[in-house]
Amino acid sequence: MASVCIPACTRALLLDIEGTTTPITFVKDVLFPYIREHLEDHLSSHWEEDECKQDVHLLKKQIEEDMRQNRACPMHAVDQTVHTDEEKAIREVVENVLWQMAADRNVHGAQAAAGSHVEGGVLFRRIKGCGAAPGLKVFIYSSGSVEAQKLLFGYSVDGDVCSTGHFDTNVGAKVESKSYESIAERIGVPPEEITFLTDVSREAKAAEEAGLNVVLVVRPGNLELTEEERSHYSLVTSFSQLQLSG
Ligand SMILES: [Mg+2]
Repeated sequence: MASVCIPACTRALLLDIEGTTTPITFVKDVLFPYIREHLEDHLSSHWEEDECKQDVHLLKKQIEEDMRQNRACPMHAVDQTVHTDEEKAIREVVENVLWQMAADRNVHGAQAAAGSHVEGGVLFRRIKGCGAAPGLKVFIYSSGSVEAQKLLFGYSVDGDVCSTGHFDTNVGAKVESKSYESIAERIGVPPEEITFLTDVSREAKAAEEAGLNVVLVVRPGNLELTEEERSHYSLVTSFSQLQLSG
């Protein structure tokens, strides 16, 4: 596939995660198995630390939310403060996280609790390493919570590849152009000076409507694009195909 030129006026890149910076299979093939294998040990060795307490607290809030919405949940309380039996409390956390993963939930607290080191920033760093556009800012817009996003990039195998800022669906749905207008406003960069990268054509369309420049990312496991979409959008299969003008 040929390289794609990011317009010279681009001052900010806005990146989707799943299917874009990270293969769509990553969460199920890499992240979940990792969590399954390491969560209990991780909790045992960090149980008394503030960060871990904070993560368990997040999970607890999610369970409360689940209960409010009457979702089936394997247990009714995860609270470090009320448990005197640490082992039992840890087992409960593990059990809940595994249940959430099996149910394919968007597990904010669970991902945080895993404290896992993950890949995902490899291609992202390449953009930053291009050097051609020193003033270029990188933002993330994903349906995964901002906490989970920071974790993903903060613990990438490449080390901390933290971006300038993160957005989740609190700013609006990814298929609505208003969301992209809000992001542009919040980061203080006009829409036409932002390039959005995503694997989903409906998101691409919404961003385009808001005036952003769009590049579609084609990776194994992503949704098939129609012929029309393929000819309409700039496509890359790897970030290395992005040419940043200086
Ligand atoms: Mg995506």
